[in-house]
Formats: sequence, C-alpha cells, structure tokens
Amino acid sequence: MARKPNFKKASSAAAAIRRALGSKPPFDPERIAEERDIQVVYAKLKEPYNEKISGFYRKADNKIVINKDISPNRMIFTIAHELGHAVLHQEYIKSKNYQPVFRSNVHVDEKPVEEIEADTFAANFLVPLNILKKYKDVADVGELATMFAVSEDVIENRLDLLRRHPNLATQ
Ligand SMILES: [Zn+2]
Repeated sequence: MARKPNFKKASSAAAAIRRALGSKPPFDPERIAEERDIQVVYAKLKEPYNEKISGFYRKADNKIVINKDISPNRMIFTIAHELGHAVLHQEYIKSKNYQPVFRSNVHVDEKPVEEIEADTFAANFLVPLNILKKYKDVADVGELATMFAVSEDVIENRLDLLRRHPNLATQ
C-alpha cells in the first residue's frame, strides 16, 4: 500500500530552505536551486511535450528544464516543485514512477504521493502562511498574486487553508 503524503515534512523543509531569502516576497526558487548546483534551463520543448509539460527534473545532469512557452507564474511554481523533489525525493527522481509537471491537472487521481508533497513544498516555499497572513487584509487576491509571483488560484488555495487551519501560520 502506498504511504500517505507527509505534508508536515514537505512544509517544514520548504520553510527551512526559504529562510535564506528573508521574509519579503516574492521568493525566488531559481536562486536556491542554483545555490544547490541545480541549473535551471528554459527550453523549447518538442511537440507534443510542449503542449503537455510545464517542466521536469533531469537527474542525468542535475538540471530543472522549464518549458519556455508557459507563463512566468507557472515557471516559478514548476521550479519550486522540482526543487521540492531535489530536497525530499532523491530516490523518486531516479525512479520509473517519476512524473514531470503537467500543464493541466488531469492526472490528479493517480498522482504519486511524491507529487503531492512537491506541490505542498512549492506552495509553502512561495506563499508561506505566516507571511500571507500579514498581507491578506491589506491586499486583494490579484495584488497578493502579484506580490508572491504566483497565480490567483495558488493564493485562493492558501487563503482557504489559512481560514480552515489558522494554527498552520507559525513557520
Ligand atoms: Zn513532480
């Protein structure tokens, strides 16, 4: 039986790594990747991958490859997601189960737990709840999305989590 996603581990790891960037958004995952000798490259992907994939981790040469045709917010989220794999899932990224980040979320039901954890890592890295809490009453969703360099969907999800679990805004 597959294990359950470890949300706590993924969010703590993101908080620990992000700390080097201070407490003022936006938080740049590319800078952290490069400090860890993971190069981020922006590439024109071949058809049909161009339409299907946002990016992936290339273990062979330790690079995060990003589809250069996606939006800047999507690029940043994808880099943060793959950085999460680099930090949490060294075995997984070498395995056959490894999945790239897809441009659409059609595979939700079959996502390996590692994919859910990498999304959790990315959300916590980019939009820490304790910092979101400081700004949420003075800026609307659109302004928060710009401030944190993520999509409005990501902000909505984080605000919803903060409403349901205010005690999570501690790290
Ligand atoms: Zn992934």
